[in-house]
Amino acid sequence: MDNENSYYRVFWDEVLNQLRDQLPPQEYELWFGRVSLVSSDESSITVAVPSQFFRDQVKQRYADRIESLLYDLIGRRIVLAFQIVTPDELPNETAENPSGRNDRTPPEVRADEAKPKPQRAPHPELNQSYTFENFVIGTNNSLAANAAVSISRNPRRVSGYNPLLIYGGVGLGKTHLIQSIGNEIHNNFHDMNVTYVTMETFMNEFIHSIQNKKQHSFKTKYRMSDVLLIDDIHIIQKKPETQEELFHTFNALYDSNRQMVFTCDRPVSEIREITDRLRNRFSRGLNVDLQPPSYETRFAIVKKKIENRQVANPNLSVPDKVIEHICQNIRTNVRDLEAALTKIIAYSELVNREVTMEIAQSQLRDFFSPATAAVHVDVIQRIVADYFSLPTHELRGKKRTKAISYPRQLAMYITRELTELSTTEVGQEFGGRDHTTVMHACQRIESRMRTDPTLEPTVQHLNRRIREASSNG
Ligand code: ADP
Ligand code: MG
Repeated sequence: MDNENSYYRVFWDEVLNQLRDQLPPQEYELWFGRVSLVSSDESSITVAVPSQFFRDQVKQRYADRIESLLYDLIGRRIVLAFQIVTPDELPNETAENPSGRNDRTPPEVRADEAKPKPQRAPHPELNQSYTFENFVIGTNNSLAANAAVSISRNPRRVSGYNPLLIYGGVGLGKTHLIQSIGNEIHNNFHDMNVTYVTMETFMNEFIHSIQNKKQHSFKTKYRMSDVLLIDDIHIIQKKPETQEELFHTFNALYDSNRQMVFTCDRPVSEIREITDRLRNRFSRGLNVDLQPPSYETRFAIVKKKIENRQVANPNLSVPDKVIEHICQNIRTNVRDLEAALTKIIAYSELVNREVTMEIAQSQLRDFFSPATAAVHVDVIQRIVADYFSLPTHELRGKKRTKAISYPRQLAMYITRELTELSTTEVGQEFGGRDHTTVMHACQRIESRMRTDPTLEPTVQHLNRRIREASSNG
């Protein structure tokens, strides 16, 4: 390009050098490994970034620092501007460059050369709204989110992140993140074949393939994936054949340098009844956790969810006071946060009134009061035992006959629903059982609810009785 531009290139390269010195290598590589100079004029420098998300992050984290470095170098104020150029549009893409390294002079992409990219049909298994743009990053999830972004930028350059395993409790964003990886790669790398399944689907497909003698096409489907994403791998506990199959799938993909991402509701070390060799594969790459969000992050998430709804409903407005009220009271996870917001908005639409603090308070009262109002585990145990005509102490006892273990599982499930006790604490209340026993009990009840239509009303009935008993002291 012109002299002016090469003049600025020297400064830009110097900025990169300084950032490289200042930042941890992984962080530098993540945010600046793929940022390149596009153009410049007297007062600004424009760099190419691969997505809106990327732009927002770089801007938020580094724009001030970069502008002040430029000021020091040039002696006047230069504004940093961004241009979004998706990876397929960049020359020297990883296709001809299998290592994916691009350390030499970054490619020059002039603004007018960056054509809008043809759309790829949405991925049939992925929810379009699970994107990085819609994912709010806080300290509770930043490692996981950064690793996810990093993989999505360079799906061919399989790094130490293979596999990436994201773990954490329910409603903290595991599915959102893993599907964002899928959407991002599917939309930006049109030749790449992204496979997303839940562990449950993987298992069912595997079983069907045996029954229908279609093992070959099952194997082909998974082993032809360029990127394999499996959600909720903890389901694989106690399923030796599926474990065996996944183990071989893993090895085949790993050996041919294909990226894999898994999610799990607990750390790998706490998955029970899986083979050591599979556990070893899961922990081979990078394991990162998701924690419950802080107040500030909850606030930002609720704001974001409201913005998303305003696209369909521009008249929607939710006062900040209401958002504060929601975020102060709902701390458990993002799914509950969203459910609370939905409840308030649904009600205000129903009565055709704006969202007010009164509506929020009245709608949230029964939303969280059962959890926070003192529901005691002894009341739960007494009422559940009563319902099954058992002595209460049996629920805390050692017996594992079906007649007792089912009511016990149900009582544990209800305790998790109605109190804020952790799985560990619930385990203690039920005869000193392990927290994984409690998680298992809750999963059993949840899966039974899906197949047994009478269970949900039973649980509702018990919940009501427990609440009544609790409020009567
Ligand atoms: P998990 O799979 O861990 O149970 P999900 O990914 O299903 O949780 O998340 C539950 C809900 O919370 C989803 O609607 C998701 O979009 C939302 N969510 C979770 N974390 C975030 C976040 N950081 N920013 C925005 N939405 C989030
Ligand atoms: Mg999930």
